[in-house]
Amino acid sequence: MSDEKSKVLFERAQRVIPGGVNSPVRAFRAVGGDPIFIASAQGAYLHSVDGKKYTDYVGSWGPMILGHAHPAIIAAITDAATRGTSYGAPTELEVTFAEKICELYPSIEMVRAVSSGTEATMAAIRAARGFTGRDVVVKFEGCYHGHADFLLVKAGSGMATLGVPDSAGVPVATASNTATVHYNDIAALEALFAARGKDIAAVIVEPVVGNMGCVPPEKGFLEAIIACCKQHGAVSIFDEVMTGSRVARGGMQQRAKLEPDMTCLGKIVGGGLPLAAYGGRRDIMQKIAPLGPVYQAGTLSGNPIAVSAALAAIAKLDDALYTHLEALGARLEAGMNASLRAHEVTGCVQRVGSMLTLFFCKGPVGSWNDAKDADTKRFGKWHRAMRERGQYWPPSQFEAAFISNAHTNADIDATIKACDEALAI
Ligand SMILES: *Cc1c(COP(=O)(O)O)cnc(C)c1O
Repeated sequence: MSDEKSKVLFERAQRVIPGGVNSPVRAFRAVGGDPIFIASAQGAYLHSVDGKKYTDYVGSWGPMILGHAHPAIIAAITDAATRGTSYGAPTELEVTFAEKICELYPSIEMVRAVSSGTEATMAAIRAARGFTGRDVVVKFEGCYHGHADFLLVKAGSGMATLGVPDSAGVPVATASNTATVHYNDIAALEALFAARGKDIAAVIVEPVVGNMGCVPPEKGFLEAIIACCKQHGAVSIFDEVMTGSRVARGGMQQRAKLEPDMTCLGKIVGGGLPLAAYGGRRDIMQKIAPLGPVYQAGTLSGNPIAVSAALAAIAKLDDALYTHLEALGARLEAGMNASLRAHEVTGCVQRVGSMLTLFFCKGPVGSWNDAKDADTKRFGKWHRAMRERGQYWPPSQFEAAFISNAHTNADIDATIKACDEALAI
C-alpha cells in the first residue's frame, strides 16, 4: 500500500501553506520522507488518508493522554456546542475550570485561561516583568517555551551568554534581554544571578524537558532555580505546558514537591482543544489587567467548548490512569533497552512516566550539549523503519514520545517488536 493520497495532499498543501504544514516539525524533514495525512483517530491509533493504521506515540504532541476521540470528551464538546460556540463574556465553566486548576496545582492561587502554550509563557513573563520592574529573562538551552520573540533564543555555549536570536525576524535588541544557561547547570545559574541578579525578572524552565527529547532535571536543579529566584527577588516560572498532568496529575511540581511562583499549562489541560493557562502567586497575578497595569487579553480565551473539553479530561485524571501509564512506560523502556543491547546499538532511553525518548547516543543526556551528540541519521533510519511497521513516533530525535491511557500491553509489545526489527536494520 502506498501513501499516494498523502503525497497528493502534500503537493497541494505546499502550494498554499509554507512547507505544507501549520507547524514545522509536522513536515517530517528531520527524518526524511513526506508527512502522513490523517483522516481520523481513535484511542491509541491514527488512520491515514491512505487507509493505514498507526499506533500513535505523538498524541498531538502531548494533549491526548486519554487517547483519541474519548467518548466523555466528545460528549462534552457536542453538548457545549449546542449552547453556542463563543460569547466573549464570563461563564460558570471558566470559574469551575479556574477552581480545578488551583486545586490540582496548589502553587496556583489565581489563573488566566488563554488559547495556546505560547500565549501562556508570553503572558507569564510579562506579568513577571511587570511585577518585578525588571527586563531580563533566564531560560535554559534546548528548552522550548513557544514561539514568542524573546524566547526563541538558545544562545552560546559554556556559561550564560547574552542572547542571540535563533530565528530570523527576532530583533537582536529583543533577544538581548534573554540570558541562557545550560540545563542542569546549577553553578552557571548561580554565577549568572551573582553577576546580574538585580536585573533578572524571571527564570523559566521546563521542569522535565520534552523539547530536546526527554531530559529529567538532576537532583537539586529545580530547587536551585526556586532558591536563586527567592534570594534575588525574581519570579520562578515552571513551564508545565508539556509536563502538566502528564508526569503526575499536578505536573512535575507535584512529583518534585515544589512550588514555583508561576506555572504555565497547555496541551493536556485543554483536553485536545486550543486552551492553555497561566497562573501562580496571587500578588503577581493581581498585576494583570483589569486589576493591575499588565495588559493581557484574548477574544476566544476561556472558550466554552474548549473549557468543557478540559473539564471532561481533568475529571478522568485519576490514580489508576497514572499507574497504568507508568506501567506501560516502564514496559516500553525495558523492551527498547533490551533491543539496544541485543543489537549492540549505542543508545539510551530516557523516561519520566509516560514521556520518553530513545536517544541514539550513549547518554545519560542531561542538557542540549549532550543531546546534540545524538546520531540523527541513525534516528532517521530507525524512524522510517518504525513508520513502515505502523508506528507513529515523533519525527525528530529531539522530541518526546507520549503514551496514552488507551494504549494496551499488546500495543506496547507490538511497538517493542517493531523497534527490535528497526534497530537490526
Ligand atoms: C508545546 C509547548 C509550548 C507551546 O505551546 P503551544 O500551544 O504550541 O503554543 C510551550 N512550552 C512547552 C514546554 C511546550 O511543550
